[in-house]
Amino acid sequence: MGTVEENPKVLMETSPPHPAMHDPVGPQPLLAVAPGDLATWLKARHAPAWQAQAIRQWVIQRRAESFDVMTDLGKELRVKLEADFRPLGTQKIVEQKAADGTRKLLLRLWDGESVECVMIPDEERRTACVSTQVGCGMGCVFCASGLNGVLRNLKSGEILEQLIRLRNALPTGQRLTNVVVMGMGEPLANLDELLEALALAGDPKGLGIGARHITISTVGLPAKMRRLADLKKQYHLAVSLHAPDDALRQTIVPTNTGIDDILQAADYFFEKTGRQVTFEYVLLRELNDQKQHAQALAKRLGGRPAHVNLIPFNEVDGLPYRRPDDLALKVFIDELQKAGLSVKVRKRKGSEIDAACGQLRRRSERGVSLPLAPAASSSDHSLSK
Ligand code: SAH
Repeated sequence: MGTVEENPKVLMETSPPHPAMHDPVGPQPLLAVAPGDLATWLKARHAPAWQAQAIRQWVIQRRAESFDVMTDLGKELRVKLEADFRPLGTQKIVEQKAADGTRKLLLRLWDGESVECVMIPDEERRTACVSTQVGCGMGCVFCASGLNGVLRNLKSGEILEQLIRLRNALPTGQRLTNVVVMGMGEPLANLDELLEALALAGDPKGLGIGARHITISTVGLPAKMRRLADLKKQYHLAVSLHAPDDALRQTIVPTNTGIDDILQAADYFFEKTGRQVTFEYVLLRELNDQKQHAQALAKRLGGRPAHVNLIPFNEVDGLPYRRPDDLALKVFIDELQKAGLSVKVRKRKGSEIDAACGQLRRRSERGVSLPLAPAASSSDHSLSK
């Protein structure tokens, strides 16, 4: 792929689909190989086992995307590594850059499936938004990621690679400061792989992004929320509520298991970790964005030290939902604030680059040509959702 810096506003590059990145008998992506197995591989080739760590460091910390650059390893060993492994198992097939610096990648996985990830710059922050599944099984009616269901969970290495790919696209010396697990998929439905990836992201010898800078967003799976709470990690948890009562929630989030249960699990998370939970609420015009919805939401959350993150709907091709109008948004915010809740409206960024997660993959799969999109106007701060 050429550079994305050539066009200062928006640039999208595509390359033709390519065969599987690896198959079970072909070269393995390095991050899919346990460090111990790599050490064993090295020993069998009369190389010191400690080099396993050094090789992983090259990829995780030192931005290596080929074995060629690992010049401290010796040519012969590099040739052998090349035969059995790939430094990275994903391939960048689309890269989009918006006027505000937001960068979105579509990565092809070894089995030909693809996932999206995004880097969102905001002052001193560089936040990565990553996917945990190919597709999503939660079926939220407004969301592009779940329109065709879930195909599979990502492996921890595939989650970590999204962070590495996004970091490698930053100028030398710049690092990712935050992670939001808000890409495709339901993170808590793939919790073990996610935790493994985040542990490496958090390791000072990994990407150095500490738990307090990582947000996991869930549709609200109470048992998994409790499990996460019991680990007593400092991850920030965001719960997608989207409605103040079960009848309405059922129509928007068909996997709804009951708001009471979810709120109890959220309280449990707070109790165990001391971390306040954020409630996300996507605003869909005339469906859940009216004054009475805000009042009911405030009542439902009553007494909790809760943050509410309002997300004006980011429109998706082919879906009938619309963003709320400005007045409805203002009234909604006022009602929540009157009730003492802390409210934020999610800023939009990179709206011109298929930013609602799942849209890019959908378009690419449907074979829709992906033209250069117009640049964002400065008044339109749209985010990835
Ligand atoms: N499965 C997780 C992660 C989803 S993405 C969850 O449900 O929380 C993060 C947030 O973006 C969720 O609140 C999700 O409902 C919301 N979202 C998805 N598509 C959106 C869209 N087109 N516009 C606005 N918000 C969207």
